[in-house]
Amino acid sequence: MKRNFCYAPFVHMYLHDEYDKKLCCLSDDYAIDSPDTEKPIPANLHDHWTSDFYKNVRRKMLNDEYVENCKHCYNQEAAGEFSERDRWAKAWEDNDIEVNIEHGNQYKTPIDFELRPGNLCNLQCRMCAPHSSSQLDKEYKNNKEILGPIYDAGGMANDIISGNIEYVLSNAGHIQQIKLLGGEPTIMPETIEILRILVERNILDINLHITTNCTNANATFLELIRKFKNPVYNFSIDGIGKTLEYIRYPLSFDKISANIQEMCTGIENPQAEFLYTLQAYSLPNLVDFLKWVAKLHITIQNNTDMVSGVGLITSDLKGPEWASIQSLPIDKRNEWLDNALNDNILNCFSSNHDEVCDSNFELISSNIKEVLVRLRNDPTLYNMEPLIETTKRFDVVRNQHIKDFIPEIWDVFDQVYYNNFKVYR
Ligand code: SF4
Repeated sequence: MKRNFCYAPFVHMYLHDEYDKKLCCLSDDYAIDSPDTEKPIPANLHDHWTSDFYKNVRRKMLNDEYVENCKHCYNQEAAGEFSERDRWAKAWEDNDIEVNIEHGNQYKTPIDFELRPGNLCNLQCRMCAPHSSSQLDKEYKNNKEILGPIYDAGGMANDIISGNIEYVLSNAGHIQQIKLLGGEPTIMPETIEILRILVERNILDINLHITTNCTNANATFLELIRKFKNPVYNFSIDGIGKTLEYIRYPLSFDKISANIQEMCTGIENPQAEFLYTLQAYSLPNLVDFLKWVAKLHITIQNNTDMVSGVGLITSDLKGPEWASIQSLPIDKRNEWLDNALNDNILNCFSSNHDEVCDSNFELISSNIKEVLVRLRNDPTLYNMEPLIETTKRFDVVRNQHIKDFIPEIWDVFDQVYYNNFKVYR
C-alpha cells in the first residue's frame, strides 16, 4: 500500500453537521487540501462527494502525497501502532474497489457511512459539547453565565442527514458498513427511520455499528436491530462506578451491565466492543475499569444467547484539551499509567489477533497496552488550570463536588479549586 493512500475518502462518508467536514471521524475537521475550506457541506450530498474537497484529497492520495487532514494516522504509525488507515486497508483491500478521483469508486456513491444524525441525547457528558448533546445544550443555555466560557457557541448546526437518507441508501446493496452515532442513536428518529428502510428493503446483512452510551435499551430500537445479521455494538464507556457517573451525567452505573446484556441478547451474530477514551477524570479508575471489562467478558462468553466476547478499543482524548490526561501533572499521570502497566489485569488483553483466536477468545482483543506505553512516553504537558476551572464550573451548575466522585483527582487539584476561579451563582 502507498504510504499516503487510504481507502476512506474513496468509499466512506462521515456526516455530522454541515460544518464538520471530515474524511473520517479521526481526520482533522478542516479542509486544508481544498479551496472551499470555509464553505458548509452542500445540502445535496452528491455535490459533497464529488466536491473539490474530496477530489483534491483523492488526487493527493493516489499520487502518494502527504495529506494534512490525516495527521492522526501519521502519528499512530510513527508510534508503531496499528493505525486507522491500516484498519481501512484491512477492511477494503480484498473488495475489488476501483478507486477514482471523481466518484471515489465504481458505484459512484459512498458505500460506507458514519452518520451522526443530530444531537439528541439523554446525557450531558463533561467532555462533550452542546453541538453533540441536546441535554448539554439545554444546560448551557440555562447557565450561560457559568458555562459560557467553556464553549464557543451552543446548539446544533443544521442537520444534513434527514434530507439525504435516500442518497445515503441509494446504493444500499453495495454498502458494506453503516455506523450510527449521536447524540444517542438508540433514541433518534433518523436512526429508527434508517433501520426501518433497511428492514423494509430486506438489506439485513450489512455491518451495522451502533455506538451507544448503554443507558437506553429501548424496545423500538431493539425490535429493529434484532432483525439484522451482523450488528456491531460499540459501547462508549469511560470508566466505572462514580467516575463514570461524574463524567457522564446523569447516569446510573448500576444499570449499565444489565443494559449491555439485554442489547446483546436475541441477535443472530452480534459483535461488541467497548470504546474506551482515556481522559484526565478516568485515569485513576483505569485498573478497576479493566477488571470490570474482564469480568463482563466472562459473563457474556458464558451466556450462549450473547456475543462470543467483547473487544476493547482504547484511545486517549485529544479534545477538549482541558479534559485530556496531558492536563494532569506528569509525575502523577505516569504513576497511574505505571500502576496499570504493572497490573496483571493487562494479561487478559492482547492486540495480536492470532493470540486471541488461539486462546479461544478468552483473551480480550485490545490495543490497551500499546496506548498505555505511548502515553507513558508522551512528554506533553498542558496547564492544569483549565481542567480545574471547568471542573468547578460544572460542579457549581450540577451541585456536585469532584471530591465525592473522584477523590484522587481532587487530591491533585488541592487548594487551587477553592482559591482560584471564583464561580458563583
Ligand atoms: S488516513 Fe487516517 S485520518 Fe486520513 S482518512 Fe484515512 S483513516 Fe482517516
